Amino acid sequence: MNLSHLITQDAVREQSLQIDFLCEEKAAFLEGRYFEASRSPFFYKNLYLSILPEKVVDFFFKKWRLTETTAGESIPAAIFRKHKSELRGFPVKIRGVKGYPFAQVSAGGVPLSEINLSSMESKKIPGLFFAGEILDVVGPCGGYNLHWAISTGLAAGEAAALQP
Ligand SMILES: Cc1cc2nc3c(=O)[nH]c(=O)nc-3n(C[C@H](O)[C@H](O)[C@H](O)COP(=O)(O)OP(=O)(O)OC[C@H]3O[C@@H](n4cnc5c(N)ncnc54)[C@H](O)[C@@H]3O)c2cc1C
Repeated sequence: MNLSHLITQDAVREQSLQIDFLCEEKAAFLEGRYFEASRSPFFYKNLYLSILPEKVVDFFFKKWRLTETTAGESIPAAIFRKHKSELRGFPVKIRGVKGYPFAQVSAGGVPLSEINLSSMESKKIPGLFFAGEILDVVGPCGGYNLHWAISTGLAAGEAAALQP
């Protein structure tokens, strides 16, 4: 969702992305657990379930044609490393975004360079104040856009009220 506005800015080009399901720390953890566990019988799937959501693990196990009870000892180190590297850079082809009806924020709007940021007043038209979505600001998911709307609304409202 956070990437969708970047994707729409370059909709002509064929785009793809790679998902890292592990990150450096989890990859090292997985490697350690694999070599530690491979000394005694273990279920290969349990390795992955300890660090990834079950749906993700189920997806990859289906892809790798492995089952719940695949023995860890039956997976050679080279295959384990192949699985690990697939989890670190899983390619996804982008087919588009869900469009305006599903959008949560809109890119574009009044550039910040045209605004006095302490009062939110337009540099071009004195006495005109802006806040929130109308400005060219896009925050990631997590409350940043509401925070932006409320804080700029407060600043703009106070400055407008103090106008002579
Ligand atoms: C489904 C959804 C989920 C979201 N979830 C989050 C989230 O979890 N966290 C987050 O930070 N942000 C989220 N956002 C974004 C966030 O809600 C907006 O960035 C924020 O509400 C923008 O505030 P605003 O006051 O600038 O604009 P708006 O909230 O859009 O307010 C504009 C108001 O102006 C009114 N209006 C429009 N035209 C006129 C007119 N001509 N005359 C009078 N009134 C008019 C509209 O009816 C509306 O009430 C979400 C947005 C959507 C759509």
